[in-house]
Amino acid sequence: MKGTPVSAGIAHGTAYVLACANRTAAPRRTVEAQEVDRELERFSAALARAEKDLLALKATVSEKIGASEAGIFAAQALLLGDPSFRKQVSDLVRDKRVNVEAALAEVIEKFTRAFDEIPDVYLRERAVDIRDIGRRVLAALIEEHTPEALDIPSGAIVVADELLPSVTARLEVGRARAFVTERGGKFSHTSILARSLGTPAVVGIADASTRIKTGDKLIVDGFTGLVFPDPAESVRREYGRLESEIQAHKNALRELVDLPAVTRDGAEVALYANVSKFADTEPALLSNAAGIGLYRTEFGYSIRPSFPTEDEQFEFLNRAAERFHPRKVVYRLLDIGGDKDLPYFPLPAARNPSLSQRGIRLLLQHPEIMKRQLRAFLRISAEHPVSILMPVVGGLEEVRATRAMIREVERELSAEGKPFNPRTPLGAMIEVPAAALIARSLAREVDFFSLGTNDLVQYTLAADREDTAIAPYYQPLHPGVLRLIQVVIDAAAATNRPLTICGDMAGDPLYTEILLGLGIREMSVAPGELLEVKDRVRNISLAEAQELARASLELSSAAEIEALVGPRADRAQPAAATA
Ligand code: PEP
Ligand code: MG
Repeated sequence: MKGTPVSAGIAHGTAYVLACANRTAAPRRTVEAQEVDRELERFSAALARAEKDLLALKATVSEKIGASEAGIFAAQALLLGDPSFRKQVSDLVRDKRVNVEAALAEVIEKFTRAFDEIPDVYLRERAVDIRDIGRRVLAALIEEHTPEALDIPSGAIVVADELLPSVTARLEVGRARAFVTERGGKFSHTSILARSLGTPAVVGIADASTRIKTGDKLIVDGFTGLVFPDPAESVRREYGRLESEIQAHKNALRELVDLPAVTRDGAEVALYANVSKFADTEPALLSNAAGIGLYRTEFGYSIRPSFPTEDEQFEFLNRAAERFHPRKVVYRLLDIGGDKDLPYFPLPAARNPSLSQRGIRLLLQHPEIMKRQLRAFLRISAEHPVSILMPVVGGLEEVRATRAMIREVERELSAEGKPFNPRTPLGAMIEVPAAALIARSLAREVDFFSLGTNDLVQYTLAADREDTAIAPYYQPLHPGVLRLIQVVIDAAAATNRPLTICGDMAGDPLYTEILLGLGIREMSVAPGELLEVKDRVRNISLAEAQELARASLELSSAAEIEALVGPRADRAQPAAATA
């Protein structure tokens, strides 16, 4: 089977298939006869809860947006009450003795399949509402268990149709040897998580979760995207050899830990780590990161059954700052919306979630959530060097509103006698082309910038970062992207604002030379990629990199630039060969 490799490495093991219907995990299991009634009660309770959520959502949307938009949720609530839908699920639980999550997934699948055959496009698209309902009820069911982990056997290769951050968060991901999914792209959040764990992952294998069965033997090649079900002896032998070579390469990289990240001609590069949770600080420290350049705070929210309190946030975030002291930690404000959601915070259905409420826009609409997080950040700032980063900034207004909220929170903390650093730097993620183009104006309002190329590429090229079908259009080396990066670098230099690049481009040695050539000197990468990037930096001549950047900016297509950049990275000597 061939998919897209999104996290390098080789794994061999036994498949564990997660039935993740409708973007929420629904592990299937058989229930005993005496459990049936309890399952049906759980179903009723989840329906009631989903209905309550929907009606609340309808009221909010009606008040904030308009009655006609709220109509979607009224229609969904009607479908939820449909007796035939309820009966089919209950019958399955009773007759097939499966848990209600699996029964629900099956019925939703059947209903949406029926929609797929409708010729009318508008009606056909109503399948989305059915899926949404399925997801909502599943979320209500699963929330009962959260934060209980979804049990995966140690050393298993997790196979799923799609792994959402909220699902991955509940898996004991450290136990998985590899991930194989049908959907998702290189820059989707689960891929990022896999890379940060150093776990091999392949996405985009159609029907993987039905073609592969739990218990099948698999080899996953996270370099090429190949997955071998039931591998032949010759394949196993070949991969065994490859694994020992990789181990040798990793050992060689370890020798780089204490060496500086400096180019052959003496240009210094600061290498920070991207983390999502406290556990990531371990590999970040082991690879000697200069600090944490991006702390994605979403994970700490998604593993809880409801919004964490200020004290809980303080506790789990402060541990990272303590561990890294005196190195700095950049905390990013909660970035939800788009492809990231929280099971307990349903967002109004959006026709195009990435172009809807997300990041700082969404937070500013929910000051209670934002203030709680800001209070936690600022309390940490009393003892440790921390910075605050705003996700998905689009314009000045959002920065000003955030500053105003920080002032408000500071006044509250002062009144309560709680210490904080009043000069805590505030930075803007540059992920929207408009923000890149007005970076000089933004510089008057912020203390630093962080280039989020995952989203910047998506928004510049109008190519969904999660959509495998559109992956050929998602081109980090598109001249349009490089020019925008150049604009931001120039603006940061002209206004004397520090600039870090924290998107996944930074962690891929393929891009190191051109990024340095364009003027990047600070990078924040997944801990597992840090030494790989350092190795690359140490093999680069800045003068040559600048020449490469100049030549690339003259070109007019991603293909031409790739042809220039790719072979140079390929030729680079891996540490294993030079050590
Ligand atoms: C980015 O968009 O590049 C980024 C770092 O943020 P995230 O991947 O969390 O959206
Ligand atoms: Mg982003």
